Amino acid sequence: MSEKATPILETTGLKLHFPVRGGIFQRATNSCKAVDGVDLLINSGETLGLVGESGCGKSTLGKTIARLYKPTAGNIRFEGQEIGDLKRKELQPFRREIQMIFQDPYESLNPRQTVGGILEEPYVIHKLGTREERRKWVKELLEKVGLPESSINRFPFEFSGGQRQRIGIARALALKPKLIICDEAVSALDVSIQSQILNLLLDLQKELGLTYLFISHDLAVVKHVSDRIAIMYLGRIVETGDAETIYQKPAHPYTQALLTAIPVPDPEHIPSKQILEGDVPSPIHPPDGCPFHTRCPHVEERCRIEEPVLENAGKKEHLKSCHLNF
Ligand code: SF4
Repeated sequence: MSEKATPILETTGLKLHFPVRGGIFQRATNSCKAVDGVDLLINSGETLGLVGESGCGKSTLGKTIARLYKPTAGNIRFEGQEIGDLKRKELQPFRREIQMIFQDPYESLNPRQTVGGILEEPYVIHKLGTREERRKWVKELLEKVGLPESSINRFPFEFSGGQRQRIGIARALALKPKLIICDEAVSALDVSIQSQILNLLLDLQKELGLTYLFISHDLAVVKHVSDRIAIMYLGRIVETGDAETIYQKPAHPYTQALLTAIPVPDPEHIPSKQILEGDVPSPIHPPDGCPFHTRCPHVEERCRIEEPVLENAGKKEHLKSCHLNF
C-alpha cells in the first residue's frame, strides 16, 4: 500500500435500490436493495479487495462507484469531489479517472471491431489526439499488457481468454485512469492464467501508481493482491480491515465461514470447517435484525431484532458488524 494513506474514493450511506415491478400496470411494488448503506474508503495506491458470495451486491456496488448506475441515496466522493449526483455530461471528466475491467472480456469486447479499433475508441470518444497519435498510443498500450503489435489488425475471437483479458486491461488503461475496478477480472480464467493476469495487474499498479478495487467471490485470489479487504453480505459491508488481520483474526462469522472454504495446502493444519448453509437471502425481503442471522451458527435472540452497526473490532481500522466478539 502507498505510504501516504490518502483516500481517493469514499462512499457514505451508499444505496442502490432497483424497483421491482408487478401487476398489469407494471407499477413499482417493491425494491431490490442491491446496495444498502455502504461506507467504504479506498486509499490512493492501494488495492482494496471486495469479497462476498454471488448475489451479495459487490458487482452492483462496483458499477455504482464507477457511476454506471445512479445511486438511490448516499454519497460517492472521488478525490474529495461528490460524483454521486452528477449528470451524464458532468460525469465526463470522471469517466477518464475511473475505469472497469469485467469478468468476461469476450462479452465486453465488440467482436466486429479489431483490437486496434477497440483500443482507439476511448481516445475517439474523448476527442484525444490525431489519428497517428492514437495509433502510437494503441501500440504502447499493447506493449504494456504484453501483446504483440500485430494484434492491432486481429479480432477478439482470435485470442485466448487470458489474451482477451489483456486487451480488456489495455482498454481500461487507455485514458490513464487513477482508479480501476476489477470486477471478477480473473474468475473465468484457468488458475495458471489467473496468476499471469494478477502479476500483470500488480506490475501495472507499481509502474503507473494505480488504485484497484478488486471484486471477487474468492478470498484465496483476493489474498494475493489486496492491502485491505472489505467483506460484503446482502448489500452491506460486514467486516473490513487490513488483509493480514482479516485472514488471521476474522471478527465476523461470515468472514470466518468464507475463510474456512479456502483449500489448505497443509493437511495437518486444516481449520475446523464452518460450513455456510443456505443461500444469500433475497435482497427484496432482507431479514430483520442482523442480515446474516438466518445462516449464522452463533445467532442469538437479539440478532433477530437488532441490526449491528459497523464498529471497531479491536484493532485500528478493523471494523465488524456483529453483536458478539470472537
Ligand atoms: Fe451472527 Fe448475531 Fe453476529 Fe449477526 S450479530 S453475525 S447473527 S452473531
